[in-house]
Amino acid sequence: MADQMETRNYENGWKFLEELTENGHRIQEQVLEEILLRNAGTEYLSRFLHGQTDKQLFKNNVPIVTYEDIKPYIDRIANGETSNILLADPISEFIQSSGTSGGQPKLIPMTAENFEKKTLELTLVDPVVKKYFDGLEKGKTMSLFFVKKGSETPSGLTARTLTSCYFMSDSFKKSAPKICRSPIETILCLDHKQSMYCQLLTGLLQRDHVVSISSIFGSVLARSIKFLEDQWNELCSNIRTGCLSDWITDPGCRNTVSSILTRPNPELADMIEHICGNESWEGIIKKLWPKAKYINSVITGTMSQYISLLDFYGGGIPLVSPSYGSSESTFGINLNPLSSPYDVSYTFLPNMAYFEFLPVDKDGGENARESDFDGVSSQWSSEITNANGNVEPVDFANVKLGQYYEVVVTTFTGLYRYRVGDVLKLTGFHNNSPQFQFVERRNTVLSIDMDKTSEADLLQAIGNAKRHLEPLGFILMTFSSYAETSSIPGRYVLFWELKFKESTRCPKLDAKIMEQCCSIVEESLDFTYKSLREANKIAALELRVVKHGTFDALMDFYVSKGASINQYKTPCCIQSEEAVKVLNSGVVEKFFSPKTFFLS
Ligand code: AMP
Repeated sequence: MADQMETRNYENGWKFLEELTENGHRIQEQVLEEILLRNAGTEYLSRFLHGQTDKQLFKNNVPIVTYEDIKPYIDRIANGETSNILLADPISEFIQSSGTSGGQPKLIPMTAENFEKKTLELTLVDPVVKKYFDGLEKGKTMSLFFVKKGSETPSGLTARTLTSCYFMSDSFKKSAPKICRSPIETILCLDHKQSMYCQLLTGLLQRDHVVSISSIFGSVLARSIKFLEDQWNELCSNIRTGCLSDWITDPGCRNTVSSILTRPNPELADMIEHICGNESWEGIIKKLWPKAKYINSVITGTMSQYISLLDFYGGGIPLVSPSYGSSESTFGINLNPLSSPYDVSYTFLPNMAYFEFLPVDKDGGENARESDFDGVSSQWSSEITNANGNVEPVDFANVKLGQYYEVVVTTFTGLYRYRVGDVLKLTGFHNNSPQFQFVERRNTVLSIDMDKTSEADLLQAIGNAKRHLEPLGFILMTFSSYAETSSIPGRYVLFWELKFKESTRCPKLDAKIMEQCCSIVEESLDFTYKSLREANKIAALELRVVKHGTFDALMDFYVSKGASINQYKTPCCIQSEEAVKVLNSGVVEKFFSPKTFFLS
């Protein structure tokens, strides 16, 4: 079934996608059948199915769970028990989630067979972009990809991030020279600074052959351009002299870059110096890589905070957010690469896993009822409950346009009715496959007293304030926040890193405008927040502006704690005191909302 279709697909990706999405419902049923046939006898499923493979029994008996519920099984496997307590096929390794979006890194089982299936999505994005952009075959991508060293469980299984697993795989090693300008050795270098320097250097040396720029998430591209801002003088000096800097000591990087940097090229160095020496970096990507047709990075969800900055750097090059996936499963791809980055929907791929959708509604909404799930602080509640008060998920065939859902996944690799924690909105269908907009992670909230401010609400409120700042020539490069509760009443604190469009130096900020930004954020938050502010149960919102590079230090902090650069997502709301300290160490100015009355 789905597997046979996969072997046929590569010559004609679009045809395959059409077949896949037309047969969405049937394939979903087949996927569930196959998962149950393989795994019904595992210790985990036997508890609920007693060896039977009936799909309805699965839906009636198998509980919807979170990672915490299956962690005891994962820990047993990591400590040496056989993996068939959870899944029939042998585990090849564990995939480590980034740990920045949902707290601690999770370990997700992976099998050799499923690894191929998971990475299929990366191959399917290709025919989609080729349909919309001509001439891609004439050049290659400048990648900004990184790997992270894995660790070993006590039982000897490797634990790596999904992207590291992919970039280190034989299939990537085989396909990389055909698609990437960056030599594979520069991607596989474990020292991120050397890796980034060498990928940028090879990209600059071959600038006329670069047809797209690619990173997994938008934050990584933003970080790389900031790195370029600090390093362009040295990069140009390497190009001028034809000699690579001495601090590039990684043998793989040195050898491959030296084989491209073969001669002094003062003309190219002059040209790049001229472009980078400009006071304003507006359109820098287009100027440096004039044939780049699109930027390929996830730019939805928390990454939407980077849209303005990447638009500014890109100088009109379309931002394409290619796919939506996680360590647990691949979900979907963007079939309309030219859609506005604020409007991207992902078409679910029915062969990736079995998907169910828990209808959710905002608390206080018309249909909201109490959720029966504990442990997830959220302002989302489950909308549809059965006679026992339990939440009923719906399947592929029964999702409704405009409804919000939390995605629940059953995989080939031991996750059964597993809540991913992401809230999505159904925006349409491609053939018989649903298309979803990413809304937010369900459990990332700022909270004081009765107020719970979600990631999406915060993004929206900050988006409103940001628009007030942009006509004055400032771009909000990135932000984060935390609930300051050491004083009573507590307050929400925002950290902003700003960029001045006209120059690399930031002029003095106008206190009045910044205070207005604080007020706009507060006014954009919901009724509960405003009532609590009015009642002085929450103090005035505080905005701390940080100096250039502070959010790089935050990324470095999380990377030092084990996060992967590729999968790093700047947390919208910070829980860790240490991380708050990192941001506080970069604060240059503080502003408070002057507003006292909200409810008129
Ligand atoms: P990880 O834990 O590193 O596997 O990260 C997976 C999480 O990243 C997902 O559950 C989402 O919250 C987020 N994510 C991945 N792809 C996208 C996307 N295209 N848009 C928004 N968020 C995404």
